[in-house]
Amino acid sequence: MNTESPRVREVKCPVCGALVRWEPASRWRPFCSERCRTQDLGAWASESYRIPEAEAADGATDDADLA
Ligand SMILES: [Zn+2]
Repeated sequence: MNTESPRVREVKCPVCGALVRWEPASRWRPFCSERCRTQDLGAWASESYRIPEAEAADGATDDADLA
């Protein structure tokens, strides 16, 4: 018989794919480590902080008709 008792659920770290035990001891779950967690949050932040360049203001072209 199988002596292992896979009671603990395991999830995959979203960053590196390593198996992480879903238990209180895994403080970085669902990430495998603080490093992976930081990486993920970093990617997130840099995406949401990306600001589209301001479009060039073009309101000064219709004004040259005064002669
Ligand atoms: Zn990881």
